This record gives sequence, structure tokens and C-alpha cells, in this order.
Amino acid sequence: MTEQADAIIIGAGVIGAAVAFELNKLGYQTLSIDKNPASGYGSTSGSCAIIRVHYSTLEGTAFAYEGYFYWRDWADYLEVTDERGLAEFREIGCLVMRTKQNNLLNKHIALCEELSIPFEIWDAAKIKQHIPIYDMTSYWPAKRMNDEAFGEPGSGQVESSVFFPTAGYVTDPQLSTHNLQRAAEAKGGRFLFNKRVTEILQANGRMSGVRLDDGSAVHAPVVVNVGGPASAKINEMAGALGDMTISTRALRQEVVHVPSPGGFDFFNQAPVISDSDIACYVRPEHGNHILVGSEDPECDPKEWVDDEDYNREFTEQWTHQAYRYAQRVPSLEIPSRSRGVVDLYDVSDDWIPIYDKSMVPGYYMAIGSSGNQYKNAAIAGKMMAALIDYCEQGNDHDTAPLRFQLPYIKRSINAGFYSRKRPINKESSFSVLG
Ligand SMILES: Cc1cc2nc3c(=O)[nH]c(=O)nc-3n(C[C@H](O)[C@H](O)[C@H](O)COP(=O)(O)OP(=O)(O)OC[C@H]3O[C@@H](n4cnc5c(N)ncnc54)[C@H](O)[C@@H]3O)c2cc1C
Repeated sequence: MTEQADAIIIGAGVIGAAVAFELNKLGYQTLSIDKNPASGYGSTSGSCAIIRVHYSTLEGTAFAYEGYFYWRDWADYLEVTDERGLAEFREIGCLVMRTKQNNLLNKHIALCEELSIPFEIWDAAKIKQHIPIYDMTSYWPAKRMNDEAFGEPGSGQVESSVFFPTAGYVTDPQLSTHNLQRAAEAKGGRFLFNKRVTEILQANGRMSGVRLDDGSAVHAPVVVNVGGPASAKINEMAGALGDMTISTRALRQEVVHVPSPGGFDFFNQAPVISDSDIACYVRPEHGNHILVGSEDPECDPKEWVDDEDYNREFTEQWTHQAYRYAQRVPSLEIPSRSRGVVDLYDVSDDWIPIYDKSMVPGYYMAIGSSGNQYKNAAIAGKMMAALIDYCEQGNDHDTAPLRFQLPYIKRSINAGFYSRKRPINKESSFSVLG
């Protein structure tokens, strides 16, 4: 192993691998270190990998729309082939129910108009035409099954939705990370697996490298924390928590996989769907299955956990989510054996990520992805590389934040939007929706 690099990246998940690729493109030779045996084996492997463009803030929406184009042009973006093949982006669109809770999506529609993002309004009849298994009865607010009002219709129907065509999902998030690894390697990046960073080293008041669990040290003047749900622990190791107003912590999540009702080809006919009336998001899964995630309704307790010590088995949460979705799809058959995913989000206080420098010169972070940044991996990697380069050239991103150009949509954003020192962003949905 070479013991020197221009930049060490802690974490080889989808965002870490994209940071590696983009830093190498700027001429920084990187070493990515991950305690797992391969890239994308952290929370990225549990991701639903939904690519969508509707967010609650202008910056979040612009970032997500920019992010979509990298998936659309994935092979061109990578500039390499991968012996395992390239990840597939199924561009099936995303349907979002208009409800009182999301103010009929009026804010999202205005943001899309401002950014020229395509969308269509679908009424209930058109929704049923595309997804005939749907019953549009309103059930809001989402409840737990021990609530005696569970399953009782609320007031009226969900009358309409917005369909965003520039959306879909990636079928294999781990493979997409491997693709990024190969792309980074082709530019000179190196990856070291099965090694845990146990100490972050400083010399002369700045980063000097990291120590690994085998006792060896690797030296670099730049260290980047892309540790996913371990982000807060890594920041603590670096002594970088002192000036942060936004913190991050690991939140346990369960994702349900259920078969589509017989006779309906959900896999080929349904888009990704976000439904705040029942607090579920869904997408097709291979084998004509439906994947059901939670939109974090108030009635569900939040399970903040240690990233390495949490329950990996399904709990009653699985059943709550499955039956909430059965309100929308009365013909859904819920199997007795729970299938799906248990994994962790790395959640920030306002569910918006931190892409930033730190109070320790040479130490940077791309963290707090809050269950909604898989889609942004490429553009987040690009912005992090630009931010690191900007700071390493002597600029103070805290006082004169980088203005970052989004190449596809040709719009610049203030990268300080993602500052670790921001006040809590009240525009956020404070949920996985970002
Ligand atoms: C259930 C679920 C569903 C999701 N669905 C979506 C979705 O539909 N759309 C979307 O956009 N986003 C989604 N997300 C979020 C998205 O998956 C994450 O934002 C993204 O994968 C985070 O990537 P990452 O590289 O930051 O972190 P990770 O993939 O978690 O990678 C971090 C890596 O750091 C390594 N590491 C940590 N500590 C150390 C250490 N001390 N030494 C060495 N290595 C270390 C870990 O081993 C890990 O591999 C979802 C997430 C989950 C959990």
C-alpha cells in the first residue's frame, strides 16, 4: 500500500466514490478507505435509489434536477466501462399525490416552473387509468394499526397528482457505486477495503492523514468524511464538531417488499409514487414486486441508533407500512414472511445534507444525506471537489462561499446553502422528502 495521497476519502459509498472520481479529475490523487469489503456496501446498498426532482427548496430542487442528467447520461459521465456492467436507470417518472399536507404541491410546482422542470397534472381518473389497482380514498393522517381509526376513510378523495417524467430509479445502487469506483480508478484514484479509520491525524494545525485499525498510518493533507451513518463519529475523531450548528445521527428505517396484486404488471406500468396521504413512497421492484418506504409520519417513533449496533430484523414497523399501503391498494396481498430492507439514514437536523469544509484546515465533509441524496451523488461529488479545491487554494468558504455552477442546467448555486454552520432551514420538509 502506498502511504501517501493528495486526499483521503473515508467511505466508499455512492457519494464517497463520486467525490473520489471528481477529485481525481481535478488532479488530486485520492485514496478511498472503507471498512467494508467492497464499494457501496454501506447504506448505499440498502437505498431505494429513487431519482426524483421535487424538493422543498429552490437549491434542493435545482441540485436534484441537475443530478438526474448524470443518471440519464451515465455511460458518458463515467468515461469507462466496468467488467460488471453499468447500472441501469429506469426512467419511469414519479407521481406525487397532491394533498392538503403538501399544500397541493403548489410550492413544488412553482419551483419546477422556475427551473423549467417538466411536469403534468393528472386527475384521479388519469391516475386510475395508469394504476387501476388504486383506490383514491383519503386516509390522512397516517396512523398506526393499533389506532382504532386505522383504515377508516378520512375526508374525501385524493383528487389529483403531479407527474414528473424526469425521474425513476436505479436498479442496483451497489453496482452504480462500483461503476464510480472504476471511473475514479481510471483517473488514478485508489481504494482500500477492509480497513477502518480509527484516528484522524493532524500536524501543524491541519490534516495530515489517518490511522487504520491495523496500526498503519496513511498521510494526506486533505481528509474527507463521507462516512454515511458513521459521520458524527468520524467528525468527533477529527475534532471538527466545535463550530457546527447542524448535527447528524443515524436513523433506522425499514423498507417493505410485497408482491403486486395478481393481474397487474406493476413493474412495467407503475411509476415511482409518493403519497403523503398515507405517508408511503413506492416503486416497482424486480419480480413484479412493490417496494414501500416510509415518509416518516408523526405517529411513527424515530429510532435513533448507533450505526454499528442496531436491530437488523424487521419489526412491527414493516406491518404498519404494508397495511398503510394496502389502504391505497385494497387488493394487495401481504405475505406472512416480511421481506425488504433494514438500513440507516444519516439524518441532519433539517434533513438537508452538509457539503462543507470544517473548522480543521484540510478536513471536509459530505454527510447528513438524510435518506435523499443517492440521486445527487454525482453532482455532490462534483461540488465537493470544487469546494475542496477552492479552499485548498486559500479561499475561505465560510466567509466567501463558493458559487458553484450546475453544468447541465446552467445555473449557479451558493454552496454555502449546505453549510455546517447554517441555521436550521425552515423551508425543509423535515422528512426523507428533503
Ligand atoms: C433504506 C434507504 C432508502 C433510501 N432511498 C433513497 C432514494 O430512494 N433516493 C435517494 O436519493 N436516496 C436514498 N437513500 C439515501 C442514500 O442511499 C444515501 O444518501 C447514500 O447512499 C449515502 O451514500 P454515502 O456514500 O454518503 O454513504 P454510505 O453508502 O453509507 O457509505 C459510507 C461508507 O463509510 C464507511 N465507513 C464508515 N465509517 C468508517 C470508518 N471509520 N473507516 C472506514 N470506513 C468507514 C462505511 O463502511 C460505508 O461504506 C436511502 C437510504 C436508505 C438507507
